Amino acid sequence: MSETTLLRKAQLNSLDFATISQVSAARKAAAEPTLSFEFFPPKDEAGEANLWSAFHKLLEVSPDYVSVTYGAGGSNRERSLAVVDRMAAKVLTIGHLTCVGATKQSTLEILQHFERAGVGAILALRGDAPKDDPDALGKGELKTALELVDLVHESTKLEVGVAAFPEVHPESPNMEHDSKVLALKQDAGATFSVTQLFFSVQAYTDLVASAQAAGATLPIIPGVMPISNAKQVVRMAELSGAAIPAELIAKFDAAADEDEAREIGMAYSTQLAKDLVTAGAPGVHIFTLNHHAAAIELARGAGLCR
Ligand code: FAD
Repeated sequence: MSETTLLRKAQLNSLDFATISQVSAARKAAAEPTLSFEFFPPKDEAGEANLWSAFHKLLEVSPDYVSVTYGAGGSNRERSLAVVDRMAAKVLTIGHLTCVGATKQSTLEILQHFERAGVGAILALRGDAPKDDPDALGKGELKTALELVDLVHESTKLEVGVAAFPEVHPESPNMEHDSKVLALKQDAGATFSVTQLFFSVQAYTDLVASAQAAGATLPIIPGVMPISNAKQVVRMAELSGAAIPAELIAKFDAAADEDEAREIGMAYSTQLAKDLVTAGAPGVHIFTLNHHAAAIELARGAGLCR
């Protein structure tokens, strides 16, 4: 896809579609990339006001869908479900769901909640053990995301997406292993995947090639974080195990002040999103951190919205 064809023209109302695959197919038919945003449930009243203000501003650029994270171990279960309910009434919504430490019964109850809310899909995740409960991974009834995909497929009609890792999952020996697991999830019914944070087109194209070699042909939607706060993104990259390219670190180090670092970071992440679409990505999923300005700047700069 050449850069001139990037700007999305088709006016789609995401609520006309029942699933993520359906809206993605409509974009694909128009030869246009999807645009989607990720939010997390707020912890307090100030966070709540901030989230809804960002959400409403982001709706103005017509995302194809949004997604809402879920705390591993169900730590923010009620808040996450409340956000999903409210968002799903306005736009096609993915509810993330983790299974670490959970029982099948409690997981089924959440799935029923998502069905009632009319979500476009769930993102089936394992989650990580909380710091204060390092043994949590062994405690629940569902040990891996694959078992969650199986459960969703057996018990509901919900579409299921899963996670993918351009920089290899931290517990995995290599990308081939991750790709085999992705293929197993596809065989169990997953129809799309969304990636972890990463910073190079090569990491994404390597993942897609590896996944395809393992038989995982489902769409892999890159997750991109607008780099509006260099220090914060460096911290998040360390947590997720993503490598920030040395040349970008060098530019941050040479920046005169935070404003210049923001400009460098935003230019980098916007170009990354553009290059990913040019390299064949079906769309871009923007990690908003519940802020609208940088997300819109990135989406607009990459030709993903007007
Ligand atoms: P799994 O698929 O279970 O994989 C975990 C590890 O086990 C991997 O190393 C994998 O290779 C290995 N493995 C799995 N199945 C098998 C198998 N059958 N055979 C051999 N090895 C296997 N976390 C949250 O808490 N809340 C969220 O909302 C959330 N949202 C996320 C959104 C995205 C887009 C991404 C990429 C991650 C998100 N996470 C979230 C983080 C995620 O929970 C962690 O990365 C977690 O460590 C792995 O989750 P998973 O679903 O890939 O787990």
